[in-house]
Amino acid sequence: MKIDVMGVRFDNVTMDEALEQGTALLDTEGASVCVTPNSEIVYEAIHDEEFRALLNSAELVLPDGAGVVLGAKILKTPLKQKVAGIDFAAGMLKIFAQRGTPLYLLGGKPGVADLAAEKMRRLAPGLDICGTADGYFTEEAPVVEAINASGAQALFVCLGAPKQERFMFAHKNELQVRFMAGLGGSLDGFAGTVKRAPQWMIRLQLEWLYRLIKEPKRLGRMMRLPKFVLATLAKRIKG
Ligand code: UDP
Repeated sequence: MKIDVMGVRFDNVTMDEALEQGTALLDTEGASVCVTPNSEIVYEAIHDEEFRALLNSAELVLPDGAGVVLGAKILKTPLKQKVAGIDFAAGMLKIFAQRGTPLYLLGGKPGVADLAAEKMRRLAPGLDICGTADGYFTEEAPVVEAINASGAQALFVCLGAPKQERFMFAHKNELQVRFMAGLGGSLDGFAGTVKRAPQWMIRLQLEWLYRLIKEPKRLGRMMRLPKFVLATLAKRIKG
């Protein structure tokens, strides 16, 4: 079932259900797309119809962040839980390893994807990472060719939003993978180049505060979070 949060239709799933759906997509013909919008991205999509349409045409739309879950609650259509992109990705790695699904990692600064690959192999022994490339390319065609030549069946696209969504949908028909997911800064998270908040902060839904303290230049972007909450309140009041 989909839940509409300010125009973006999210799958109302627990983490286990998200992983089940991801697994089902591996068995589905053609390339399926998973997106993981947080509230900043939903706020962008309110004002960008084309981007919103892209998000809504993904096979799996996961609520990455406490803000989206709060927004859904304010709108009186609660979501079961937050499904953080990086946690979903970590779950999928184990499934790829069990099934022998080759995975390609695209994105991050040079070297980050390789470092992430090393850490991922430790998390999911037996995982086949068949290729990596950084996210700072000028031409897309050679990147698509390299992914196809690697024999990848799964692809993590970590270029930040909306670049990663545009890349996935622009090449959906050419890419010979079964499953691809847009995962923002997740490769930095796996690589350890950007540390994740401590567990207690994640539990208290304060991951955004940790990121803000670590990277104060995100303040402009993060101001979209209160704007998003205000927009959901206004929508609720207007009915
Ligand atoms: N990035 C990239 N190519 C670009 C721009 C960004 O590979 O042209 C990477 C960047 O190195 C970072 C990620 O995309 O690893 C974006 O991270 P951010 O935390 O901004 O993404 P979010 O998850 O917040 O969308």
